[in-house]
Amino acid sequence: QTIGIPKETFAGEKRVATAPEIVEKLIKLGFSVTVEKGAGEGASFFDEAFTNAGAKVVASAAEIWSASDIIFKVREPEMGEVAQLKPGATLISFIWPAQNPELMKALAERKVTVLAMDCVPRLLSRAQKMDALTSMAGIGGYRAVIEAANAFGRYFNGQITAAGKIPPAKVFIAGAGVAGLAAIGTAAGLGAIVRANDTRAEVADQVKSLGGEFVKVDYEEEGSGGGGYAKVMSEGFQAAQREMYAKQAKEVDIIITTALIPGKPAPRLITAEMVASMKPGSVIVDMAAERGGNCELTEPDKAVVKHGVTIIGYTDLASRLAKQSSTLYATNLFRLTEELCKAKDGQIVVNMEDDAIRGFTVIKEGEITWPAPPLKLP
Ligand code: NAD
Repeated sequence: QTIGIPKETFAGEKRVATAPEIVEKLIKLGFSVTVEKGAGEGASFFDEAFTNAGAKVVASAAEIWSASDIIFKVREPEMGEVAQLKPGATLISFIWPAQNPELMKALAERKVTVLAMDCVPRLLSRAQKMDALTSMAGIGGYRAVIEAANAFGRYFNGQITAAGKIPPAKVFIAGAGVAGLAAIGTAAGLGAIVRANDTRAEVADQVKSLGGEFVKVDYEEEGSGGGGYAKVMSEGFQAAQREMYAKQAKEVDIIITTALIPGKPAPRLITAEMVASMKPGSVIVDMAAERGGNCELTEPDKAVVKHGVTIIGYTDLASRLAKQSSTLYATNLFRLTEELCKAKDGQIVVNMEDDAIRGFTVIKEGEITWPAPPLKLP
């Protein structure tokens, strides 16, 4: 079968769904690979590297879409692209079925099979190698710290110099999931004093192991809402949490927010008043900007200065590290392809009896199979 990789069309998207080193591995599995001309440029993978790896490079996106048996993509496809898919083809991409019912309908009508990278069962340890949400969130958390450091007018690490003593920067991370933990490790690595909070108390040990201090909310309430994810907290908890965050805002130099609740808008954690109470020159990076923001003053996709505080709401953090994110995403896709091609004969089989595969199969030969039944974990 042929795997086709089109150039991403979403404005500003620099990632690509494969990498030259992965093309070689896909060919070893028995597939032939076709890449659209220029598809990897944003990630510093040039056509020649793909050709050297054994891929065919073609100028026309239409050729990729209409001739490939399997399409690898990063962002969900546009309707014009869906219309060109070969019936019976398999599309492997981020899809977000809950947010994109029209897209799901159009894909089903096209009689294709769709494997959604956002639906990989994250609690199944066997599926971790395919978990692109985790690899992208990790890169996002790292990049959030880099963006903060770039906008911040001081060192992160403390220093004693001939010109005087410099205190370390203080960084507060709201939400210690995958992105938050990556941000903690990165900020601690740069030498900052790092504190973090999450509604799920179970992450406290992970925060500590990465060099951070876990700051508790003075209110007893369990924050796990099932499946390892967060829930909406009670009014009482939220009030106590606001009090603690207000205190941190006055003390720290940088706040990175990553808090999300599945199927709900992002919790509002940083009020305008808290921003105004921060030291001039402080920085907030709001990783929840796309989902409504954790900070009241965030503007998605922008860096704005309010009350002397730079508030960064970029929603393309993984794409800003395009070579790294493309390589990890391509690896996740390769691992997934290996699961679908156990015979290593260049043919994929979507085995719905396998609960990892069942989890991310959102359309099977034109039939919508999303959402998958809940996993039976041991
Ligand atoms: P996420 O992006 O949905 O949320 C980010 C973090 O925000 C979470 O830790 C959440 O608890 C926190 N949060 C939500 N509301 C908050 C609030 N009001 N105040 C403070 N923090 C708040 O989560 P994620 O990073 O995608 O991870 C979700 C879960 O999935 C985690 O438990 C993670 O360990 C788990 N996970 C497991 C695996 C695996 O075992 N294979 C892989 C990836 C993720």
